[in-house]
Amino acid sequence: MRSGENLFVERFMRDLTARNPGEPEFHQAVQEVVESLVPVLERHSRYLDHRILERIVEPERVILFRVPWIDDRGDIQINKGIRVEFNSALGPYKGGLRFHPTVSLGALKSLGFEQIFKNSLTTMPMGGGMGGSDFDPKGRSDNEVMHFCQSFMTELSRHIGAGTDVPSGDIGVGGREIGYLLGQYKRLRNSCDGVFTGKGIKWGGTLIRPEATGYGAVYFADEMLNTRGESIEGLRVAVSGSGNVAQYAAAKCLALGAKVVTLSDSSGFVVIDKGLTQEMWDEFMNLKNVRRGRVGELSSLFPGVVSHEGPGIWSVPCDVALPCATRNEVDGDDARTLLDNGCTCICEGASMPSNPDAVEFFVKKKVLYGPGKATNAGSAVISGLEMSQNSMRLSWPGHEVDERLREIMARIHETCRTTAAEYGRAGDYVTGANIAGFTRVADAMIDQGLV
Ligand code: NDP
Repeated sequence: MRSGENLFVERFMRDLTARNPGEPEFHQAVQEVVESLVPVLERHSRYLDHRILERIVEPERVILFRVPWIDDRGDIQINKGIRVEFNSALGPYKGGLRFHPTVSLGALKSLGFEQIFKNSLTTMPMGGGMGGSDFDPKGRSDNEVMHFCQSFMTELSRHIGAGTDVPSGDIGVGGREIGYLLGQYKRLRNSCDGVFTGKGIKWGGTLIRPEATGYGAVYFADEMLNTRGESIEGLRVAVSGSGNVAQYAAAKCLALGAKVVTLSDSSGFVVIDKGLTQEMWDEFMNLKNVRRGRVGELSSLFPGVVSHEGPGIWSVPCDVALPCATRNEVDGDDARTLLDNGCTCICEGASMPSNPDAVEFFVKKKVLYGPGKATNAGSAVISGLEMSQNSMRLSWPGHEVDERLREIMARIHETCRTTAAEYGRAGDYVTGANIAGFTRVADAMIDQGLV
């Protein structure tokens, strides 16, 4: 990066940090985006003239509220409720609700900020937002979770709606919580207006929701490989994690004829040198979703599976890496090991699984590196498709939703690729994703005036 660009980013970040003290996650999310926007700001002075950067980092509205409820022992409990309505230039605020003790305003602002660009990349009419509470559903009874959700929604219901703000789930907010939240919303508003996405399939949800993120990441990887005249079929793919994203990334790899050679969880990883079979995948789903066991147990069921404890998954030779477990699971050393062993494509299923060292290395080495903002947009795409189906009062069959998902992921890939090339950074999907996501929102903000 040139020194003038450095100075610009430094000055902007100094100001942002002073205005938003104690929010390190938010500072990190903004810095990553602003650094790659310098070329677009240099080329199009209208973004500077309209002070789009200063405006886009300021949420349109933040709602902070008290959530009082009574636990099973009859004791009064108080939690924090937060909804960050970040940007509505492209459509209603759209983003998850997280219930977890680590929830803070800074953490939610960082996620809401990312969501603006992810939603923009889908080209669907969705703005960006995020919300949640420091309430921890773990260890709470269904009754306690219901009472908490009802109290939370009693306040939130004033601020959301199908045309205003459409929340979905995130960590700690699954089908059970969405059911309770939606039930209370309907009772208060007397309306079934499709205000949530991620709903149960029997009450307004869409098919392919559980599969969306994993499938979408594999579609994106395949598109990246196509640019080099390859496809994922027959390649050795290292998948990390064994949760929702990893499970369906592995399933789509199997369907497309790729060889899944690893899976992992927080205890360790397994190597399947000859590749995961359908029988193994079925058992893996049973192990993780029903028996709640450790991934290493697969080795006692299948002779071709070797179990290893602890980290080290990225030392397994592969052609394609799909990190689908957790933030910062690939560091600089892992990145070097992957490339030394012949890996040419890294496509993120998780959010920010590669740390900044690893990202810098992948971009410098010009391998195919797809950042999560673009590659795991499958969940955002499916949310948009659920909103469309609710508005039309229709339920599309699974194959139709999957086809649309594939088409939209291909379009996101193409947008990132062509945008990077247009700004002289051919093959740099990080720059492509950030600039493409930003310009769509920025142009809409200019068109809509100073609001
Ligand atoms: P899950 O909680 O279902 O699964 C996470 C998996 O990662 C678990 O298998 C967990 O192991 C494993 N894991 C956690 N920490 C480590 C670690 N240090 N080393 C190795 N494995 C680890 O989450 P999801 O699959 O839903 O999400 C995965 C990631 O994708 C998250 O970053 C999430 O934010 C992101 N994401 C998810 C979306 C979705 O639709 N689900 C959408 C967009 C992003 P264990 O079983 O031992 O806990």
